[in-house]
Amino acid sequence: RAKADGRGRCRFFLPEMADAVRRRREREADLRRAIENDELALVYQPIVDLQTGRITSCETLLRWNHPTRGLVPPTEFVPMAEDIGLIPVIGRWVLKRACAEATRWPETVSVAINLSAVQLRNPSFSTEVRRTLADVGLDPHRLILEITESVILAENRQTKAVLSELRRAGVRLALDDFGTGYSSLRSLRVFPIDTIKIDRSFVAELGRTPHAMTIVTAVIVLARELGMKTTAEGIETAGQMDWLTEAGCTEGQGYLLARPKAAAEVRQFLAAECALAAPEEPRRLAAG
Ligand code: C2E
Ligand code: MG
Ligand code: MG
Ligand code: MG
Repeated sequence: RAKADGRGRCRFFLPEMADAVRRRREREADLRRAIENDELALVYQPIVDLQTGRITSCETLLRWNHPTRGLVPPTEFVPMAEDIGLIPVIGRWVLKRACAEATRWPETVSVAINLSAVQLRNPSFSTEVRRTLADVGLDPHRLILEITESVILAENRQTKAVLSELRRAGVRLALDDFGTGYSSLRSLRVFPIDTIKIDRSFVAELGRTPHAMTIVTAVIVLARELGMKTTAEGIETAGQMDWLTEAGCTEGQGYLLARPKAAAEVRQFLAAECALAAPEEPRRLAAG
């Protein structure tokens, strides 16, 4: 019904637009308040080496403990935070908090953090990361930054320079949600990726459609030939895990292996797992 007539359209939609703008301003104010009130929290989900069963890293996942709405998932507020310019503040907090937390984990366990494209457009981002690592005392090799294909799609010179600098400093890069973007194969050429994360949607289809198995096998082989590792996301069944292990996928993540956990809980979990994984050091166990 909206005519291509600028004047008419504007008058016609004005009340609805005002409504939407007001709702949006409320949600924005809500998020600003959340940051001040410490309503944001982090949980960590273990990632397991499928061949050895050991935990190699934990992925940091953001949560919003809203006073009335309950636990709000990141998919509902990260895009808004990006729009209104709050991601640099939130991202900095996530980085610092997660790196500090990782210093309390066994040295064999790394920490993965999700980045938004907005953070990588900041030319001083790599300096910021290196300073944070130095401040908290975490080896750069223990940090994995997860980026999505949309970051790569932007093909920004700045972004490329920032990622190369970080890689040179020893930080590892993972390509998140692989297969859901537009430029999957191209992105592997453009950026120095260490790990490909196979999107949960492919894992969910394993054993249901032959195509999913063919695609996942091809991704695993491709990654291996390129010298990259593969992490399968969203493993929920033993059947999926067995198939992925057999297919040569290097790592796995999902509710079957471990759910995302609060900091104190993941610390205990890692301590227990590492004690089990190191039977050649019985004295440490006895001492603990
Ligand atoms: P992602 O990076 O692909 O994270 C994996 C998501 O899959 C997480 O959802 C995790 O809880 C969920 N998941 C893990 N295992 C399973 C499983 O077995 N089954 C199912 N159904 N789901 C599983 P979550 O925590 O809701 O995060 C959603 C997305 O929000 C993330 O996807 C990531 O893109 C974004 N995100 C999370 N934390 C941050 C952050 O600190 N900064 C930014 N920029 N984005 C973040
Ligand atoms: Mg991720
Ligand atoms: Mg992912
Ligand atoms: Mg995902």
